[in-house]
Amino acid sequence: MIKGNLKVKIAKTAGFCFGVRRAIEIAEKTAKEKSKVYTLGPLIHNPQEVNRLAREGIKPVNSPWRMKDCTLILRTHGITESFEQKLRSKKLDLVDAVCPFVGRAQDLVRKLTGDNYKVVIIGDKTHPEVIALVSYGKGRCKVIEDKYDLKGLNLGDKVGVVSQTTQNLKKFKEIVKFLKKRYKNAVVYNTICRATIDRQSEASNIARNVDLMIVVGGKNSGNTKRLYEICRKYTKTRHIEKAGELKQLWFRNIKSIGLTAGASTPDWIIKEVENKIRKIKATLEKSKKA
Ligand code: SF4
Repeated sequence: MIKGNLKVKIAKTAGFCFGVRRAIEIAEKTAKEKSKVYTLGPLIHNPQEVNRLAREGIKPVNSPWRMKDCTLILRTHGITESFEQKLRSKKLDLVDAVCPFVGRAQDLVRKLTGDNYKVVIIGDKTHPEVIALVSYGKGRCKVIEDKYDLKGLNLGDKVGVVSQTTQNLKKFKEIVKFLKKRYKNAVVYNTICRATIDRQSEASNIARNVDLMIVVGGKNSGNTKRLYEICRKYTKTRHIEKAGELKQLWFRNIKSIGLTAGASTPDWIIKEVENKIRKIKATLEKSKKA
């Protein structure tokens, strides 16, 4: 049963951020100019968009060592310093599509550790962006996922802090507050990108005011997972990759739905989800009148 007329609120910030849009433009432009263009691993964390690019001939490869006469595009969230050096020594034709905001975080880790700081990276230990950030720190980084990870650590007098670019802003502030109690002189760089902050802020505002929140994006996408975690604090939330995963059952007994999407979710997937929601809405309203 649907309650009243179902309202659907779509986030203005849903979908591609600057860094992802830029990486796709670089990849498509490169593919027009050169033959045999590959991305090193998935260019972005959205399997459906990665498949679309593959159909255009831009395929991901994980092990490029035997490849010859081809161009390799470096993904948005970066690779480890040693891996990049190895690629360069093989004289592969590399095209850099790393997001400049990720590049800024890498530069800060390099600079701080070069100045003998121990660097706390607030982020997900297993995420490729964080693994790459650590590689720039010459063994002087510690990855912190929550404030409890700081217990028992002795970081010394010179402590620097950076963040995974797609970190939850609230969590970042909470960890920094905790860290500052012990390391008063810690130098803190909030490297969370604007796209992440805006998406998280709008998603939480919508989630506070709806009965159901749909978050669309890759299951492997860090920023989509963060949106899901934020929204579920306020309302019932579902994380899907594509329209086919929507279930009519979820829409029963609700009056309002919010829709947002991660920074690597293409418009065409958001549109498909929106259309499917409207179809379900029409079906439920029809059955209510019958
Ligand atoms: S989410 Fe932010 S850091 Fe990541 S690609 Fe987009 S703009 Fe760059």
